[in-house]
Amino acid sequence: MTGTFVGMPAFPTAARDALADSQLRGNLARATGTIRAKRAAAVAEVPEWEALRAAGAAIKDDVLLHLEDYLVQLEASLTASGATVHWARDAAEACAIVAAVAKAHDADEVVKVKSMATQEIGLNEALAEAGIAAWETDLAELIVQLGDDLPSHILVPAIHRNRAEVREIFQRAMGTAGRPAPDGLTDEPAELAAAAREHLREKFLRAKVAVSGANFAVADSGTLVVVESEGNGRMCLTLPEVLVSVVGIEKVVPTWADLDVFLQLLPRSSTGERMNPYTSTWTGVTPGDGPQEVHVVLLDNGRTRALADQVGRQALRCIRCSACLNVCPVYSRTGGHAYGSVYPGPIGAILNPLLRGVGVDDQVDSLPYASSLCGACYDVCPVAIDIPSVLVELRSQVVDAHRGGLPGGEAAAMSAASWVFGRARRLAAAERVSGLTGRLATRLARRLPGPASAWTDARDLPTPPRESFRAWWRRTGGGGDA
Ligand code: SF4
Repeated sequence: MTGTFVGMPAFPTAARDALADSQLRGNLARATGTIRAKRAAAVAEVPEWEALRAAGAAIKDDVLLHLEDYLVQLEASLTASGATVHWARDAAEACAIVAAVAKAHDADEVVKVKSMATQEIGLNEALAEAGIAAWETDLAELIVQLGDDLPSHILVPAIHRNRAEVREIFQRAMGTAGRPAPDGLTDEPAELAAAAREHLREKFLRAKVAVSGANFAVADSGTLVVVESEGNGRMCLTLPEVLVSVVGIEKVVPTWADLDVFLQLLPRSSTGERMNPYTSTWTGVTPGDGPQEVHVVLLDNGRTRALADQVGRQALRCIRCSACLNVCPVYSRTGGHAYGSVYPGPIGAILNPLLRGVGVDDQVDSLPYASSLCGACYDVCPVAIDIPSVLVELRSQVVDAHRGGLPGGEAAAMSAASWVFGRARRLAAAERVSGLTGRLATRLARRLPGPASAWTDARDLPTPPRESFRAWWRRTGGGGDA
């Protein structure tokens, strides 16, 4: 099980470092602001958007309810169309299958379509250990790979880089991985894209094996679907002799009619486009056309664990559009690295704990708290995942997982609050005292002392009002001026 970056600190520590990086914050603000506006305009064009969202959610819920049946149907359809189906319980099994296929063809390199599932299982690292180079062909993934960097966004993994940084990476690292960047490369986007195209072309033409994920897998026809914007995916899916696709088991949709709903929801939510520039579909092996050996690895890696969570299972509806990242006030300031996972942002804050379980890793346990619970993620999610409710549920699971031993500061504060709120007279007394001390404290300093200072480290202590609500109500009967 991978999915999270090795050695990452818990979210509060990583977020503090990210917030101190003004270049990063500038890059993020520009990029997320642009995508947000594009998405809003594209969605506003569709009067029946809410009905489409409801349809997408209902299809996914039906799939999750009957997942076993749809997977068996998918396996039968794929096999009948000439593909070889493999089942992988976890990351290690999935990586071993891909490596074995590449080795069976004496391949020491593979070209890759952008794929969250293969990032989740750490495929590139596993293939490197087996002596096989995995070349990313998506432009943003190429930037991340050449920069020896980590992805920070589901859709735009190099969102934290500006074009001057990209130019520097290309000049420094392209030559170490194949065709070098041309002399005199500027930071004009068209020149950078042309350099990437030249660099990648020789890899597309040389590679015998390609690796992809799939956005969707249609059960009744055994068709896999990849949507992308650059055409690199199409090159990987059609040129090499052998194709291995690593597909999360929740990617299945029953029919092409169901797929139609998602092909409307996904592009508007992710890139703010009416349709994806490239939608590639393939059904097993077609003699004389495209790869002549097709393998499909159906991946669990924690998905059945998530499915068992009654509140959290809705996270498996996710179609990885990244709309929730772009609207999130936390993500748009910290960026993706602070989440320590290939799945950052609001969906990462719930998906990582659901896939890996709570109570085993402090970094994962910190993620459900990486949210203000403002609900913007729920509003934009094309499959209506109620992320705030799942966050609250996971927080309660994290608390339960850490029960026992001496209570921490937060638990002690909650017990004290429970005692105070348990009696009206206690609450009234507390209001008087806190109002008095609060006003005094804000006169003297805007920080709380001791452990409570963690709360005011990043906030000003607000000045409590002179009169509590209850005192005001008593005085005015609810009708006077506040
Ligand atoms: S949770 Fe919803 S908004 Fe976020 S990536 Fe998944 S589908 Fe998109």
